[in-house]
Amino acid sequence: MITSTSAVLTDSGKFEIQEIEMPKLEKDGLLLKVEMVGICGSDKGIYLGHNDKRELYPLLLGHEVVGRVEKIGEEAKQIYDVRVGDRVTVLPSIHCNQCRYCRQGDFRRCTSRHGYGLTRSANEFPFLNGAYSEYLYIVPYSTLFKVDEDVPPQAACMSSVIGNGVRWIKTKGEVKPGDTVVIIGPGAQGLASTIVAKESGAKRIIAVGLELDAHKLETARQLGATHTFFIDKDDVLQEVAKITNQDMADVVVTCTGAESALHLGIDLVKPMGKIVLVGLNNGKYQLFDLNKVIRNEIQLIGGYGQIGDMEYAVEIINSKKYEVEKIVSHIFPLQQAEEAMKLFVEKPEQCIRVALRP
Ligand SMILES: [Zn+2]
Ligand SMILES: [Zn+2]
Repeated sequence: MITSTSAVLTDSGKFEIQEIEMPKLEKDGLLLKVEMVGICGSDKGIYLGHNDKRELYPLLLGHEVVGRVEKIGEEAKQIYDVRVGDRVTVLPSIHCNQCRYCRQGDFRRCTSRHGYGLTRSANEFPFLNGAYSEYLYIVPYSTLFKVDEDVPPQAACMSSVIGNGVRWIKTKGEVKPGDTVVIIGPGAQGLASTIVAKESGAKRIIAVGLELDAHKLETARQLGATHTFFIDKDDVLQEVAKITNQDMADVVVTCTGAESALHLGIDLVKPMGKIVLVGLNNGKYQLFDLNKVIRNEIQLIGGYGQIGDMEYAVEIINSKKYEVEKIVSHIFPLQQAEEAMKLFVEKPEQCIRVALRP
């Protein structure tokens, strides 16, 4: 029996290394040999049991992936523009293309949407439903993007994270050349936003984080931030006023669920400016300064996921103009998935993204 060594989540807080039987390749399927997979913040939430996926255990997590096409079914050959040996990254979500929303191109509302590593148990065919494994089975209606050979795997597996940055900075924030952008929260998502802000021609990119995040802010500088401030030490409001000649920010992106980030954002954005809210906090925001939002006609915009924005993200990665690989701060062998996750959970100040290498 041929198997795929996998780090399977068998319970909250518990990974087991298991050999999962290789599924038979269907005509419309494709088998990807995983090169690297990122541990997403949402994976951490599931591991900790915050986001309950109990009914899906044993669950194979993993959707931030780069790999090589190992096998490809006859029909899949017609669908995907890839051959055996090609290096690809994958859109995490799989939409059906058939429901009434998909038919209108509104894939986010797909009524039978799936996600790699998130919605199907490892007990359900084709078993290799997440990428914390040697192989990932690509099911129909997936979206693949080719990655150049000389792109570091750390950068390639961040495609969906850069895709988020594209969504928030370009698609939602509509950042233009010359703009001032403030990015609150210098984790992987904030760094991705920094890269896309730079790519969009922003004149000033101001990254804001806690003093604890000093080295992440340093990375933000390396990736394009022009200024960095500590939220818990500097007078960010005054600093941004000074830098912008009182104009304040055109766009603020809050890559943290902390309520204070939203309040700071409302103060930092210029009249008619945009705040893109991306940090989830269980919906428990308590807005108290809405008068300012109204008076200044501030646009509060939600930003979520990367559907439709991955193509450009992969272009950015393939261009190698930015050291996207810096977002991955630690790499562990797949067998040490538990240790990797523990580091991510227990030492968040040390980790930006942790990745696994099968
Ligand atoms: Zn993710
Ligand atoms: Zn659909």
